[in-house]
This record gives sequence, structure tokens and C-alpha cells, in this order.
Amino acid sequence: MDHIVLVGASAAGLTAADALRLEGFTGSLTMVGEELRPPYDRPPLSKHVLSGKLEPHKTTLRQDADLQRLRMNLKLGRRATHLDPAGRTVTLDDGDRLDYDGLIIATGLRPRHLPFGHGLAGVHVLRTLDDAVSLRAQLLAAPRVVVIGGGFLGTEIAATTRGLGLDVSLVDVEDTPLARQLGPQIGGLVADMHQEHGVRLHMNRTVTELTGTAGRVTAVQLDDGTSLPADLVVVAIGSVPAVDWLADSGLPLGDGVLCDSTCQVAPGIYAAGDVANWPHPLTGERTRLEQRTNATQQALTAARNLLAGPAEATPYAPVPFGWTDQYTAKIQFHGWCPMDARVAYVDGDPQDGKFVALYYTGDRVVGALGWNSARTLRAYHDRIAAPVAA
Ligand SMILES: Cc1cc2nc3c(=O)[nH]c(=O)nc-3n(C[C@H](O)[C@H](O)[C@H](O)COP(=O)(O)OP(=O)(O)OC[C@H]3O[C@@H](n4cnc5c(N)ncnc54)[C@H](O)[C@@H]3O)c2cc1C
Repeated sequence: MDHIVLVGASAAGLTAADALRLEGFTGSLTMVGEELRPPYDRPPLSKHVLSGKLEPHKTTLRQDADLQRLRMNLKLGRRATHLDPAGRTVTLDDGDRLDYDGLIIATGLRPRHLPFGHGLAGVHVLRTLDDAVSLRAQLLAAPRVVVIGGGFLGTEIAATTRGLGLDVSLVDVEDTPLARQLGPQIGGLVADMHQEHGVRLHMNRTVTELTGTAGRVTAVQLDDGTSLPADLVVVAIGSVPAVDWLADSGLPLGDGVLCDSTCQVAPGIYAAGDVANWPHPLTGERTRLEQRTNATQQALTAARNLLAGPAEATPYAPVPFGWTDQYTAKIQFHGWCPMDARVAYVDGDPQDGKFVALYYTGDRVVGALGWNSARTLRAYHDRIAAPVAA
């Protein structure tokens, strides 16, 4: 293999580059990234960059010298617009065509938008470092913030903005924040935590309209007739895989790029990170994870499998791991946290803000969550077994 192209210059793309070099690939490597900035880490954006505790440039994933050691042709500010798997070429937005022997797709996600209101000033999303910088600049002059969406991103933004002393409302269609991600029981604790910190929760509510004056947002309208005054709105209603550039490639697409269990999409083409959807060998279910650790682990597997070839490729079968930091709570979770799981506290006590909970389906432990209990949580990792498909 002489030339490998990586599309997506972030956590998964960069890890794949590292892994290819570590595995002894000496051919030429090209990395294409739509953003102008060199690869940086996203988890701090909604936490320390937004709060002002971390300077934006400190999110960088590699110093210049380390990037140079990878001997890559790094094409930043360039977007892949087309893939021809038969001809083995990737076309870029400047018309450049890159021939490849191997390709790793690591294009991540794009934020989902509401069908209305995004043209108004004061309405933001948060996915990139530029988003975080612009949101932070606006927050300083925006006392009333409405966050739409109570997933990980929305709850973190609510916690961080509340920590800055702003008036914060959080809206979600579910009964509790993080209900879909961590189940309603833990979601209830997350709701209590936000309320104790003074966030106004509007659960079970749908946003019907964003209203504004002179092109700037002034309020968020809810389906029960409530009007929430807003100087700034953050829309955090999920993301969609960045597969637009693959639409006419003939690759299998669905909720992401559809790979096999070894992360292969087509001969010589692998995918990794938030964009990759693969049949998880432990559950038999198609899976796509939006977790930082997965981006690293999956990119390692994809890179190794690309070099090894299909006959030697190994399936990708991780026990998922994610985390979120909100106020003083550091929440980490291994495995699966289905909404209908039975949740039992096995160590500590939610009232003390420090505990471990196990998620059961039947008598099977399918997940473990630690709330300010990272060390204790590790002991439960080996008890986790994947959920059995119904
Ligand atoms: C604000 C925020 C906070 C987060 N916090 C946590 C956390 O606390 N814990 C956790 O586990 N996870 C967290 N995550 C998730 C984690 O950051 C992601 O799982 C991880 O970034 C995925 O890496 P990736 O390389 O697959 O995709 P991305 O990081 O999305 O990178 C994809 C890159 O590809 C580029 N790209 C897209 N299309 C093209 C194209 N056509 N041509 C060229 N380039 C393209 C994009 O511009 C982007 O730079 C957070 C995410 C965000 C946004």
C-alpha cells in the first residue's frame, strides 16, 4: 500500500494516522480536514472553553512538531466533496483529486438544526472550536440563556452557563434530562442537580417557534404556550453523521457509514469515530457511538485492519465508555444504559453525590455508572455483559 488518505482531521483521523505510522506504514499519508484549525479535542469545548477556564488553543491534540513527525500531507480548510471507490479517488472542494490505495473515513457529525429560527442572531449550535469561541463571546453579554435539548451537550452547556451566573432554562421533550442516554432514574438525579443550581427545567415540552426583534432572538415559544425570554439560545438537539460528501459514492449509508464488524466499508475503505456504524459483535446490533474514547479505539482498529487486509482483520467489539462533567459531578459510564433497564445503587448514595449504579436487563448487568466514583466504578467493569438482542 503506497498512499493512504484520511478524511476528517480530528480525534479519529489523527489516531488513525498515529496508528498507521506505529504499525510501520512508511508510504505517503494525506489527511484532509474541513476546519482550518489543526486537530483539537472537543470534550473541553462545552466545559472549560465555554467557562473561560481553558484558552481555546490549549485544546490542540498535537503540537506542530508532533504533527510533523507523522509525515503527513495535511490539507486543512479543505473539504472532501466526492468519493469514487472504483477509481479510488477522493475529490476536494478546490477540484484537487487524491488517488489512494487505502482510505479511512472519519468525518464525524454535524449539528442538527431546528426547522426554524437559525437565521436569527443569538441562536447558536456547538460542535467546533469556532462555535465555542463565538458562543463564549456572546454569553458574556447575554444574561438569559435558553438551551434546547437535554442530552449530554445541552446539559453540559446549561451547567457551564449557569456556572457563569447566567439565567438558564433547559427544554427537552423527555421527562428528565439525559433520559435517553442514562435512563429516567439517573435522569431524575440530573434534573435535581440542575434545579438545585437554579436552572429552570421545562421537561416534556416541544419548542414551537423562536421569535425575534430586528433579526435577533428574543424568546423561545413552547407547545404549552410558555414564552421563555431569551438573549441567547443554544440548540443542542443532536447531530447527524457527516456523510453528505458520500451521497453519490455508492457506499452503504444509513445512520452513518455502514461498515462490517471490522470497520470495513468497501475494499480498501474503513470508517471510524462518530460517523461509523457497525454491527457490534457483542450485541449483534448496528451501533454508532458518539463518545471520545470510541473515536480513539475504533480508529486504532480501522487503521490496523486496513494494513492487515480482510483475511487478518479483527472485529471491533468494545465495551462502550463515556463521561460527562457538570458542576462538581463527574459522571462516567461503561457498557449500555438502556432506558428500560432496572438501575440499582451498589456503592455510595445519590444523596451524598457519590455512588455507583448498575444497569440490569433481567439479571444481566449491562452497564455501570459512577457519579464522582471513578475509582470504585472500575471494579464493576468486568461484571458488564452486553445486552442480548430480544
Ligand atoms: C462540545 C462537545 C463535548 C463533548 N464532550 C464529550 C465528553 O465529555 N465525553 C465523551 O465521551 N465525548 C464527548 N464528546 C464527543 C467526542 O468529542 C466525539 O465522540 C469525538 O470528537 C469524535 O471524533 P471524530 O474524529 O469521530 O469526529 P469529529 O471530532 O466530529 O471530527 C470530524 C472532523 O471531520 C471534518 N469533516 C467533516 N466532513 C468533512 C469533509 N467532507 N471533508 C473534510 N473534513 C470533514 C469535520 O470538520 C471534523 O473536524 C463531545 C463532543 C462535543 C462536540
